Amino acid sequence: MSLIKCSVCGKMVSDENEVCPECRAWLLGRKTTAPLSDGNIHKDEKIGTFKLIGLFAALILVVVFSQFLPTRNATDEDGQTTEAEEEVVLEEEDRAEETGNPAVGNEEQTAEEEAQSPLPDVAGTYKGSIRTPTVIRLKQDGTRLSGTIRYTKFDSPALDISGSIKPDGSFSLTEIGEDHRTPSGKLNGQIQGNTMTGTFLNTSTNKTTEFTLNK
Ligand SMILES: [Zn+2]
Repeated sequence: MSLIKCSVCGKMVSDENEVCPECRAWLLGRKTTAPLSDGNIHKDEKIGTFKLIGLFAALILVVVFSQFLPTRNATDEDGQTTEAEEEVVLEEEDRAEETGNPAVGNEEQTAEEEAQSPLPDVAGTYKGSIRTPTVIRLKQDGTRLSGTIRYTKFDSPALDISGSIKPDGSFSLTEIGEDHRTPSGKLNGQIQGNTMTGTFLNTSTNKTTEFTLNK
């Protein structure tokens, strides 16, 4: 090992170094290669050139990939879209606060509107036929319906019915059997004006009957 002078920074450094430890310049005069000659200089320059070309190639590849890889662009665009969406959501929330209706409570709002819209007045006595002459007496308390159903032909006792009605007039009633406990039938349909139409399901035979009764 001997000391050589770095041609770039002038510092005396070991010739076992490939590059100057001070300024990172290539040490052309180092002893580990054959004595200096033009050929060796060119060889070192060539190696340096190859390394430079390789570095440029890698740089170009990185640039090209960053252009063509969809992930980077997509991420940026997505990020922007998300921000924009967040702004829209925030604006909606602001508006909701102004009107006193939180955006989250849209379903509750709809339910309230339904409850507030007028219910049809359906209380009364409906006569007609469900396979056999039938009389239904209905009482109404808001959406709650209760009353009796009687099949007049058989001189049978009136059976209890109860259920509910919606603002659009659609109703659901359950008929309770003579034991006053076991459901014996289900009536589903629509009450419009004085007319009750629907389907009766006999829950013991599973048979259905379409019916129309009038007030
Ligand atoms: Zn140096």
